Amino acid sequence: MTTLDEICHWIDGRPLSGGRPLEITNPATGRAIRRLGLADGDQVRLAIDAAQAAFPAWRDTPPAKRAQVMFRFKALLERDADEICRLISEEHGKVLEDALGELKRGIENVEFACGVPELLKGEYSHNAGPRIDTWSNHQPLGIVAGITPFNFPAMVPLWMAPLAIACGNAFILKPSEQVPSAATKMARLLEEAGLPRGIFQVVHGDREAVEALLDAPQVKALSFVGSTPVAKAIYRRGADHGKRVQALGGAKNHAVVLPDADLDNAASTLIGAAFGSAGERCMAISVAVCVGEETADALVARLAEQAGALKIGPGTEKGLDMGALVNAAHRDKVAGYIAEGEAAGAELALDGRRHPLVGESAGYFMGATLFDRVTPEMRIYRDEIFGPVLCVVRAASFEEAIELINAHQYGNGTCVFTRDGEAARRFSDAIEVGMVGINVPLPVPVAYHSFGGWKESLFGDLHAYGPDGVRFYTRRKTVSQRWPARDSRERAQLNFPSH
Ligand code: NAD
Repeated sequence: MTTLDEICHWIDGRPLSGGRPLEITNPATGRAIRRLGLADGDQVRLAIDAAQAAFPAWRDTPPAKRAQVMFRFKALLERDADEICRLISEEHGKVLEDALGELKRGIENVEFACGVPELLKGEYSHNAGPRIDTWSNHQPLGIVAGITPFNFPAMVPLWMAPLAIACGNAFILKPSEQVPSAATKMARLLEEAGLPRGIFQVVHGDREAVEALLDAPQVKALSFVGSTPVAKAIYRRGADHGKRVQALGGAKNHAVVLPDADLDNAASTLIGAAFGSAGERCMAISVAVCVGEETADALVARLAEQAGALKIGPGTEKGLDMGALVNAAHRDKVAGYIAEGEAAGAELALDGRRHPLVGESAGYFMGATLFDRVTPEMRIYRDEIFGPVLCVVRAASFEEAIELINAHQYGNGTCVFTRDGEAARRFSDAIEVGMVGINVPLPVPVAYHSFGGWKESLFGDLHAYGPDGVRFYTRRKTVSQRWPARDSRERAQLNFPSH
């Protein structure tokens, strides 16, 4: 029997083993490939101690020097991109090209962090009052933590850590225990880029490690990305402890297809948005709302043909469209939703359970699934399935489509397909969703905007990365300064100062 390689925590600039054992499985084969220790409070405390020791010197390091670490980090991520993508694919299941896509979007955030001297310049007012100058600057918080989901092992940690670090904080990452290797690899690369030890640390673990971070008074802020029930619980517990928390949750993203849309383009981009990464994306389109019966008939025919032709297999093989789902329980949950949708009366236009790999392979595969005539009370419509399942809802009018989306509990992303500028403008104004696409089915903002949903998709005031990220990872200090003339004699003034 071969022993499995261990993925270690990264604490105080060194790998550290320990914790409750967990085997990491390759979803494409169902076989264990690595092992991991799930941290308890002891490992978390070691990381906090190291961060506390390292923070003062890093806070006082000029932002331009902190940015230089980010420039080197970007180059190292690009140098080792193939290795990182292989680690992601082996643990998550997604295809290599898709892993490279997430890594590139993550690197955009490192590039944004390279501009930190400009971002932290602050504001200045000369003569805000008589001989008074006032300025505001943005100071780091201290120790901040990030808790990340399984579906973006590189990109979501890169939404958080580079900017938090560039702003002068010490960052502790608790990545998803299902996909741990990319995080440890990034820790090694930051070390190579010259980051002082204790400024970026990785604690592998589950709920126990997260709760230790939430309860530690030294941790000043916490960024979370994951499912809505956990996001809510973390937001509450963090707030109880007086922490700054941003908690991004789940989603059910609708695309509205209007009768005037270019249906060929709408269908092919919807296929990518619904089935890319096997639907395990928080911005995946999982509902297509077709306005009018003719639009629906034409779209469903195109979607069924293209979805049925998708190439599925082990993510590490080249030229495939979709890999396996992350684990057996999740695959079974998705299969359960398909059975439930069928029983509830939705029309199964394409049944992913019939794909030859389902059942034949030891991997956790599920074929692309298309439901037509889904109605809002069905669970397949209400719940986030997070798998390769696209539901088509037929709406009588554009207004009905907008009302449907606005009534949904989630508000992460949405999109409209149309050639009508007026309709597009009405949609973007009226829709209660945080990120909107017009003929863009995955409107994930670039790194110099910010990412975040509305309603049950985000708890907190600030979105992730970009300008909101700078606000989240810093606190504003406003200084007013006055130098009276040497020979001036001033009387005591008891009224509230005004000019
Ligand atoms: P998850 O909520 O199960 O886990 C997320 C993180 O929280 C992991 O690190 C996990 O170890 C930890 N965790 C799990 N249960 C916990 C608990 N009870 N207490 C404390 N910590 C806990 O999510 P997941 O399955 O890893 O990821 C998929 C979910 O993430 C989907 O709902 C998806 O929509 C969402 N997601 C959202 C965004 C976004 O930007 N809104 C982005 C990516 C993923």
